[in-house]
Order: sequence, then C-alpha cells, then structure tokens
Amino acid sequence: MRASRLYAPTLKETPSDAEVVSHQLLTRGGYIRKLTAGVYDYLPLAHRVLRNIEEIIRQELNRAGAQELLMPTVQPAEIWEESGRWQKYGPELLRLKDRKGSDFCLGPTHEEVIVDLVRRDVRSWRQLPINLYQIQGKFRDEIRPRAGLMRGREFIMKDAYSFDVNEEGALQSYDAMYKAYQRIFTRCGLDFRPVEADTGSIGGSRSHEFQVLAESGEDAIVSCDSCEFAANVEQAELVIRGESLSSSPEMKVLTKVHTPNQKSIEAISSALDVDKKSCVKTLVMIADDQAVMVLVRGDHEVNDIKVKKLLDAQEIRMATEEEIKELGLVSGFIGPYQASNQAQKATWLVDQALKGKVNLVVGANELDYHFSGVSLERDCPQLDRYADVRLAEAGDACPRCRGELRAFKGIEVGHVFYLGTKYTKAMKCNILDENGQETPIVMGCYGIGVTRVMAAAIEQNHDQDGIVWPVSLAPFKLHILTLQSNKEDVVSCAEGFYNEALDMGIDVLYDDRDLRAGGKFKDADLIGIPFRIAIGGRGLKEGVVEVKKRSEKTVYKVPTTQVMQVIAQELAGQNALNSFTE
Ligand code: ATP
Ligand code: MG
Repeated sequence: MRASRLYAPTLKETPSDAEVVSHQLLTRGGYIRKLTAGVYDYLPLAHRVLRNIEEIIRQELNRAGAQELLMPTVQPAEIWEESGRWQKYGPELLRLKDRKGSDFCLGPTHEEVIVDLVRRDVRSWRQLPINLYQIQGKFRDEIRPRAGLMRGREFIMKDAYSFDVNEEGALQSYDAMYKAYQRIFTRCGLDFRPVEADTGSIGGSRSHEFQVLAESGEDAIVSCDSCEFAANVEQAELVIRGESLSSSPEMKVLTKVHTPNQKSIEAISSALDVDKKSCVKTLVMIADDQAVMVLVRGDHEVNDIKVKKLLDAQEIRMATEEEIKELGLVSGFIGPYQASNQAQKATWLVDQALKGKVNLVVGANELDYHFSGVSLERDCPQLDRYADVRLAEAGDACPRCRGELRAFKGIEVGHVFYLGTKYTKAMKCNILDENGQETPIVMGCYGIGVTRVMAAAIEQNHDQDGIVWPVSLAPFKLHILTLQSNKEDVVSCAEGFYNEALDMGIDVLYDDRDLRAGGKFKDADLIGIPFRIAIGGRGLKEGVVEVKKRSEKTVYKVPTTQVMQVIAQELAGQNALNSFTE
C-alpha cells in the first residue's frame, strides 16, 4: 500500500472526548471515527488489525474442532420469550418492530438463535459434540459507552457455543476452549490472566474471564502470590484471616455524638479520631424492588453481585435519595441502631468481617448524629444474617491457600461459560441419549471482544509517540519511507524495496508522500508498524539504509543488499538486526 493512497486521516491534536490512550491513538492515527455514541467506523488500518485478530481466532478455534458459521443480527422476540430473556435482559437489549408490528431485537449475544438452530436438526447423541462459532457485529445499548472501543454499543464479537451429550463432555469442551483462548491471547502478544468470574445475565455455573492487565481496565482482579488463584473481585470469595473475632478487650458504653455534616467514613473517622475499620457503612440497596440494608466495615466496599446472589435477586442497585427518605432514613447518618420502623422491616445483611466487632461508630438515623461505642451483638441483636458481601482487595487472604492477594486492573477481552442446560431446557433442545432417553443438550458459550482486543493491545503497547503494535496484530509489518522524496536514487531504491516486499508477501506500507522526513517519522511512530526502513541520499552513498524497530530506540545501518533478507528473518522471529552497527 502506498501512503499517498491510504485512507488514514491522522490528526495532530488529541480529540477532547478521548480519555484512554487507545481511544486517543486510534483516533489520531486514522484508525477509527465515531459515528455516534459507542458506534464507530473502522477505517482501513483498523480493519487490517481486526482481520489479523480474527485470523488468529479462526486458526485456533478451527484447530480445537470448532466450526464457523454466521447467524442473523436481527432476532425475533419469540425465541427470547422462550428463554425468558425478553423480560429479563433489560434496556441493553435494543428492541424494534417490523412493519407488521412484530417484536425484534438486535443481537447482543446468540444463545437463543443457536439453540433454535440446533434443536431443529440435532436429534441423536451420535451428532454430538459440536462447537459452532461466528465473528459478527453485536449491539448492546450500554448505559455508558466509554473509552472508545473498550465499551462500545456496536462492537465485534466472536461467540462460540458448544453442545455436548452430558456434563462430562461439556466440561471437556470448556477446557478445550480455555486452552484455545490461552493460545489466542498469547499469539496476540497480550499480557493476560484467566480469572474466575461471575456468570452474569447469561447464567451458568463455571466461568473464567481472560483479563488483559492494564491500568485503564474497568475490572478489578485479585490474584494470589502463593498459588494459582486469580479472580474478579466481584467473584472472589473471602475468608477471615486469623485475627481474633472480638479483637477489642472491653465494650464501651453506647454514646450519641454530634457529627455535623460528617457524612462520609473519611469525615467521621478523622473527626472522631477512630480507625475507618471501626466505622460501619450502612448502605441501602434495592433488590428487585425490595429494600436491603447492607453493613460493611468502613474501609471495605460492598459487592453488589454477592448481595444479589445471596438474595437470589434478578437486579440490584443502590437506593436513590428519594427511596432513602421514604424509608425514614437520613442519608449520611444511617445505622442499624434505632433505625426507622420501615427500615427495620427490610432485609439486613452484615458483612462477616463485622462479626463480633465491638466499639463501632454507626449512623444514628438522625441528621448530624452518630453513635459510638456500638457493639453489634449487644446493641443490635436483631442483626442475624452475616455473610461475605464485600469486594476482595489487595492484602486479603487467598480463599484457597491463605496466601496474600494482590490487586490488578484488567480489561476483559474474553469470557468462557459453562452453561449446562439453562437454555436447552427452556427451549426444549433435546436429544436421544445412548439409552434412547430424551435429554437436554449440555452447553457452553465462549466470547471474545474482537474490537476490545484491538484497544487492549494498544493500552498495553504504546509510548508517548504512538502505538507499538505486537507484530501479529500490526496492520502492516514493514514501513518504508524516503527521507528525500525529490531524489531519484532514493525514490528508485524505495520503489525497489517496496516491490520486493510485495513479492515476498510482506504487508508493507510505503510512504511515497512528498512530505518532510520529520512528518513521515511522526506518522510512522503514531501508526506503530513494527519495522521501518528509512532511505536517504547520504546512506545510499555508503550503500546502507536505516532500519528501526518501533519497539526500540536503536537505528541500525544495514547494507541495501541485505536489508530485505534481514526484515524477513526478523518477521520470522529471528534476531537478525543485532549484528549491524548503530
Ligand atoms: P462486560 O462485563 O465488560 O460488560 P460482558 O460480561 O457483558 O462484558 P460477555 O457477554 O461476556 O460480556 O461478552 C463477551 C466479550 O465481548 C467480553 O469478554 C468483551 O470482550 C466483549 N464485550 C462485551 N461488551 C462489550 C462492549 N460493550 N464493547 C466492546 N466489547 C464488549
Ligand atoms: Mg463478562
């Protein structure tokens, strides 16, 4: 490709709405343009990267025995009614009507469609196992599309679905996909961790997320220093480490204290000069329209997913100011002692870390007052439901080996679920087993966010000048540019290398534009192609050109007679440049 013809409009300025580096560089590098919130055009450079990611996925999934197909984006409501998700999925599901008034949706995921397909044609255990996948645009009307491609509304996903005769087979399929994912993300050049995860609205019982480690990630993950355990903080179960349950010697007298305007744990702990650990956060949550009061230690965070699971609720959220008032509570001063009658009727959950704790500070359910010296078991004997309801954090004990957990930020690029018979039972997708018994097929489902992988790769691989693509994902592998575009010998040498690279099957971008060298270098750094050959009149007199890897600072002088061979070796993963002088 000649840069003079390439549709990659680069920008000098960082777009104002782009907070994360992948969004900034993809926009500045002419890879993507926003059509509307969370919806993007993928320009030729991005399209090449996406095709590279897709190709790696295809090779590894095909190798694992999966087969590619393509399902429709527009899906009829009937099958979603059958699975029960037409009601449950919520506003992320973009619903539409056709001219006859029938209900449809844009596919956010394809369990319903694929189960409908398989139930028509698969009748016998002999036809299983099968694993079918597609790579396709998905639509989810995300409440807050953000960070460019990281959380879009329309995005490209690879979704795969496995069908097995029984649980044992399904777990083998799950394992095969888990391994394929490890190979896929390794080949994409990503630093990632598979972590135990919540199963969310898709449902099921076993699940791992593949998390790319990056500060800009939305997901918090913990992993153990001493064993293999790694989990999303939403999922990580917690154990109480050896500290004695009632660590404080003597119970103080319960006292009401004036705490004007001191609404946060921060403010209370500094005003009363007590450790945050001795303050209690009382949160009002709404689980399926019912109020739930959740108590966690002042230095801990509540985990709404654990609360949701404990209560077997479909939906969970924080109560609004309005709802808090309706319960007769005063925001910022809520507590378990002398709470309003309505609040007392709600479900109360107490985090296990508070079990047996004494001399605590809690809200007094009155504007500008708290109680201190509260001992939960003595003063609030009605609180009898203690459970693990908080988020894991660095320093917590590993639930497997009691080692210490470390915390990371991650970007979820892939997700594998063991689904069991959740969809096949609801949608009557049965087979006759070996004994002639009718039985529901056992499923797994497996997603990879293809567009999110592209963004995550940039979050991990960039510097202040631009993108530094891993070779496997790069839109072009070689960037040839001329330092003077008006010198005949320079241009004819560049044209020669360009044609040679094309003949060798190397993806090459040739910057043939009539621009100053500085501008070409800037664009080259921004776009991030792994190898660069710069050709100038002075070098040619000595018979050399300059070769540079995007990931290194060193510029090598390589004889013109050897340069294409050196590039070919480097692209094959051999170190060939090191033997040349800087
Ligand atoms: P998240 O927790 O990030 O919302 P999810 O659990 O809803 O993701 P899955 O249903 O597991 O996502 O979808 C499979 C994959 O699709 C995810 O691992 C992620 O890589 C990608 N993905 C999901 N939602 C988006 C989105 N809004 N934008 C881009 N990629 C997405
Ligand atoms: Mg997920």
